[in-house]
Amino acid sequence: MDTVKKPPVIWLNVTIFLGTFILATVGVVWYGMVEGYSAAHWVWLVIAFVFCGMSITAGYHRLWSHKTYQAHRSLRFLFAIGGAFALQNSALHWSSDHRVHHKHVDNNDKDPYSAKRGFWYSHIGWMLREYQAERYEDYRNCRDLQKDSIVMWQHKHYVLLALATNFGIPLALGLWYGDVLGFLLIVGALRLVLSHHTTFFINSLAHIWALNLTPVKTRLETMGFWPFSLLVRVTTTSTTSSSTTTAMVFAGGNLILPNG
Ligand SMILES: [Zn+2]
Repeated sequence: MDTVKKPPVIWLNVTIFLGTFILATVGVVWYGMVEGYSAAHWVWLVIAFVFCGMSITAGYHRLWSHKTYQAHRSLRFLFAIGGAFALQNSALHWSSDHRVHHKHVDNNDKDPYSAKRGFWYSHIGWMLREYQAERYEDYRNCRDLQKDSIVMWQHKHYVLLALATNFGIPLALGLWYGDVLGFLLIVGALRLVLSHHTTFFINSLAHIWALNLTPVKTRLETMGFWPFSLLVRVTTTSTTSSSTTTAMVFAGGNLILPNG
């Protein structure tokens, strides 16, 4: 019997993940059968999904967590809005978690979403209980980001921005096209669930996959099969841990899957 007491459940997160998942599956199908959707619903779903994805991948991950490049205020502002829309916490909090993750990759006690704790834990389980309670508001590893006025503005007003974007954008589109409920379901719930789980799969599936792929990858690289090496492995320098980490790049580099 498992005698280790688990931390308390974070009911707000459980409610958001479960509620949006039910809306994105049952609600979207039901409304589609009763009312149907227009091309505008799907076009805006793609636009909103890409906006969220770019804000997390290019903004939260490459720009803020890894400081891979510098960006003009206007672009940082866009990423701050898109990150709140993606509902993955503030850029400061996300980057802090991600830097801890890279520093202690797959260390079950320190990596916040260690893939070695299994698929469920690294995918979503780590956000459902207070596993990180003792370091939740410890942002000492992001002192550089605390000098970025846009990061701090977004962190301070994160809840307001998350509510304004997640309800405001679908609502505005719904009023414009005359279908509030349809846009709340497609650009609100469905977009959020797709956006959440594509990011979460990077922590879970892609990571476990990368671990399992390592022997094959190594063998092919040894054989000099360079196209495979180029496809699955690029080396990037992590400025946070000043160590070399391996990243996986698909489709010409537009989706960067950190192997750490
Ligand atoms: Zn990373």
